Amino acid sequence: MSETYIPAALRRLVIERAQGCCEYCLMGEGDRSIDFAIDHVIAEKHGGETAEHNLCLSCYWCNSYKGSDLSSVDWTAEGQIVPLFNPRQQLWSDHFRLEGARIQALTAQGRVTVYLLRLNAEERLEERELLLALGSYPCSLFSI
Ligand SMILES: [Zn+2]
Repeated sequence: MSETYIPAALRRLVIERAQGCCEYCLMGEGDRSIDFAIDHVIAEKHGGETAEHNLCLSCYWCNSYKGSDLSSVDWTAEGQIVPLFNPRQQLWSDHFRLEGARIQALTAQGRVTVYLLRLNAEERLEERELLLALGSYPCSLFSI
């Protein structure tokens, strides 16, 4: 949710690296009617740089719900504050797994990310179920 100018070459690198996939919910850019965003994994207000190692591709919804947050509260662990999943430093499959279109958290970081980014909100699940049935979810980067 930053207004910082991201040079075209850097933007292109982020999109190509992610193969057009949202690095949080695994939606493909081509399957969304809304724009994808270049997300600062660590938001600029926390000192996150506009550089390759701190940028990821995010769909509009993940980017909007994440905002500039870095962490959330894991209520299954006595209200511990837990950092969000970091797609630059961690593997998606270490923290989440797909059960159909539903994103199941495997770790505390997965749990707070699913919660804060509302990854399994009803309308998002419905959209992913439809794409799953059409064979276009998850996007290619994450298909095995
Ligand atoms: Zn997303």
